[in-house]
Amino acid sequence: MDKQYKRLRGMPDLLPVDMPAWHAVEQAVRDAMSSYGYTEMRTPLLERTSLFERSIGESTDIVEKEMYTFPDRKGERMTLRPENTASFVRAMIENGLLQPGASARVWYLGPMFRYERPQLGRQRQFHQAGAEVYGIAGPVIECELMLLCARLWRELGVGDALTLQINTLGTTEDRDRWRESLVAHFTEHEALLDDDSRRRLSKNPLRILDSKNPDLESVISAAPSLDQFLADDSREHFQTLRELLEAAGVAYTVNPRLVRGLDYYSHTVFEWTTDRLGAQSAVCSGGRYDGLLTEIGARNTPGVGWAMGLERMVALMDVLGVKPPVAAPDAFLIASDEVPASAALALAEHLRQAMPGLSLQHNTVAGSMKSQFRKADKSGASVAVVVGATEIAASEVTLKPMRGDGEQQRIALAQVPEVLGTMLQVER
Ligand code: ATP
Ligand code: MG
Repeated sequence: MDKQYKRLRGMPDLLPVDMPAWHAVEQAVRDAMSSYGYTEMRTPLLERTSLFERSIGESTDIVEKEMYTFPDRKGERMTLRPENTASFVRAMIENGLLQPGASARVWYLGPMFRYERPQLGRQRQFHQAGAEVYGIAGPVIECELMLLCARLWRELGVGDALTLQINTLGTTEDRDRWRESLVAHFTEHEALLDDDSRRRLSKNPLRILDSKNPDLESVISAAPSLDQFLADDSREHFQTLRELLEAAGVAYTVNPRLVRGLDYYSHTVFEWTTDRLGAQSAVCSGGRYDGLLTEIGARNTPGVGWAMGLERMVALMDVLGVKPPVAAPDAFLIASDEVPASAALALAEHLRQAMPGLSLQHNTVAGSMKSQFRKADKSGASVAVVVGATEIAASEVTLKPMRGDGEQQRIALAQVPEVLGTMLQVER
C-alpha cells in the first residue's frame, strides 16, 4: 500500500480481534455508571480552542504542546477535544443544567486527541471514560466516585493491579501561599531546572512538580509541600475523605507530590496507578475542580470527576491475562446449492424476527456442504441451521450442534425458536 494512504501515527485501528476487550470495558463502564445512578452525556469532538485554553490552563502540557488546533474554513480556531471535562462544563452551563441548588451525575466514553509521542498506552487518538458530578461539595461524593472506580476495576478483574493515590491541593488561597514558597525554592535551584520548568517558574510553578523529567526528581522532592499552608477547612475536608475511604474499605496511599497535569483542580486529587504498564502507569485520574465552573460561567457550582484511559485498561487486562469472552454468532445458516438465494435470505430474516436476541450469520456464499460446514465451525457458532431443497419444500430445517455431542434434528420451522433456544441455552 502506498504510504500516503496509511493511517496517521498514533491513530490506531481497532480491529475485530481487539473488540472483545473493548466491549468488556465499555459494558463494564455502562453497568457501573448505571448502578450508581449516573447518566450518559455526549459532546462534540470539536470545540473552540479558547474553551480548552481557558479551562485546562495555558501553561499545561496539553495546551502548550498537545492540542490538535486548526482554523476552520472561516478561519475560526478550533481544537479536537484533548479531554472531556471542559466540554462537559460548557454543555451543562449552555443547556441550563446547572440551576442553583441542582446536582447532576453524568458520564462519557469516547475518543480524545493529543499530539504525543506514541507508545504502548499512549496514543494520539485515545479513548477515555469518565464520571463527573456537579453541584455537590464535600468529601462524600469524592468517596463515591472512588468506590465507583473500585467496583469497575473489580468487575474487569484488574482490582489487584491498581493502587489509589490521593492528595489535597487545598483552596486557591492555600495554594497562593504555597506558590510563594515554591517559587523561592525553585529560584534558589534554578540552575537545576530544565527549559520547560524555568518557563513555568514565573507562569505556573506548581506545574514543575508534575514534570516527567527524571533529572528534576531531587529538586522536586526537596520542594516545600502544601501541607504546612493548608487552612483548617481544607485539612478537615481531606481528613474526612480519608476516614470515609477507610470505612468503605478502599485502600489508598497519600502522595503529597500528586498535583495532576491540569490547572483546574482544588482540594482532592487522585490517581489509580499500576506497575504493570511501564512508564504509562496512570490508568485513571481525577479530582475536584470547583474553580473551573466559575471560570466558564457557573458561579459557586462545585464539580468533581475522573477519567480513565481505555487503551491502558485494555493493555492492563492483556498483561494480566484477563480474557473477555469472544463474541461468536449463536447460529450459522447453511443452504445447499439447490435452495434459491431469496429463500435462504427469507429464512434467515424469519428466524431473526422469531427469535429476538438471536445472532445468526448467514453464509450467503454457495459451495459444497463440506466447505460450508468448515465455515460454520470457523465462525464459532454453536449450532448450524441447515436447509436443502427438501427442507425448504416441507418448511423444515435441520439443526446441527457444532460443539459437544448433541444429535442433529430435523424439525418444523415453527418449532425452531423452542428447539434452537434450548440448544443454545445448554451450550451457554
Ligand atoms: P499522563 O501523565 O500519562 O500523560 P495525564 O495526566 O495526561 O496522563 P489525564 O489527562 O488525567 O492524563 O487523562 C486521564 C487518563 O487518560 C490517564 O490516566 C490515562 O490513562 C489516559 N491518557 C491520557 N493521555 C493518554 C494518551 N495519550 N493515550 C492513551 N491514554 C491516555
Ligand atoms: Mg499527559
